[in-house]
Amino acid sequence: MTNVETMHGPLSTDKLGMTLMHEHIFVKNPELEHNFPAPEWDEEGMLAAARQGMQSLADRGISTLVDLTVMGLGRSIERIKRVAEGSPVNILVATGYYTQRDLPSYFHNHGPERLAGGTEPLVEMFVRDIREGIAGTGIKAAMIKVVTDKWGITPDVERVLEAAALAHLETGTPITTHTNAEHRGGLEQQEYFRQRGVDLQHVVIGHCGDSTDIDYLRQLMDAGSSLGLDRFGMDIMATEEDRIATVVRLCELGYSSQLTLSHDASFFSVNLEPSVRNRIMPNWHHRYISDGVLPELQRRGVSDKDIHQIMVLNPARILAGRAS
Ligand SMILES: [Zn+2]
Repeated sequence: MTNVETMHGPLSTDKLGMTLMHEHIFVKNPELEHNFPAPEWDEEGMLAAARQGMQSLADRGISTLVDLTVMGLGRSIERIKRVAEGSPVNILVATGYYTQRDLPSYFHNHGPERLAGGTEPLVEMFVRDIREGIAGTGIKAAMIKVVTDKWGITPDVERVLEAAALAHLETGTPITTHTNAEHRGGLEQQEYFRQRGVDLQHVVIGHCGDSTDIDYLRQLMDAGSSLGLDRFGMDIMATEEDRIATVVRLCELGYSSQLTLSHDASFFSVNLEPSVRNRIMPNWHHRYISDGVLPELQRRGVSDKDIHQIMVLNPARILAGRAS
């Protein structure tokens, strides 16, 4: 059996069970919040909400959650450790860097042929997070997260993509992406990774449920990737009807072995505080797939076998990485 790294160490992939592949626990911005506090952040209250949230997922049969909060989104493994202690849900964490355009200035001065020189810090960071653990905790990353958006592959974004490709080739850890579906951004990501020798079955193209362009989605899967239909409840990007109809259609077309479902939700995001999120997108929370989406898929004829494939078997295969 293949193992995957969790907050509590390695776990056999056949023990992952129902898995949410693209979530967040807390999205923060420490510098911003230090200088301009977010009124709705309350450390102990939010930790309690997250722990309670994990229990409510376990009550619904979800047994694993992948937290894709990487650098650039305020990752704090120490804080996630406090959520994971005693959690009935396995929590997996990621390395990578979230930026749509630019990296912080530090990176402009560090790396080969730069002012301060040295090796590429992103590669060093990603590989260390995977092999030794994140920030000295010994907790190891299970996925590598990258981002492109409407600006495409900018020079700084290319640095992240290249580091992700190198870290994947060295460790076998799977890559997962944020894309702009309207710009069909998954295609340029695939092209970039293919050129660098990454087998696309180890690349999950994210935010694909924002698109209803079945030809685009099929093209991504025919090239080998799995899709993240991973923003259920985020109604401002696509309607629930469209998101569900896309899953049904792709299952009818025989693609269930390349789909994953998730919410991209968080218990707290500094970018959209809980009170605003609850008001404008009341379904955008980690329980919505269990409570709303899966029953509706069943009602529309998606088989239990396909749902098991999507929620259990696909995450296990993807998280096994190149070891599979
Ligand atoms: Zn995300």
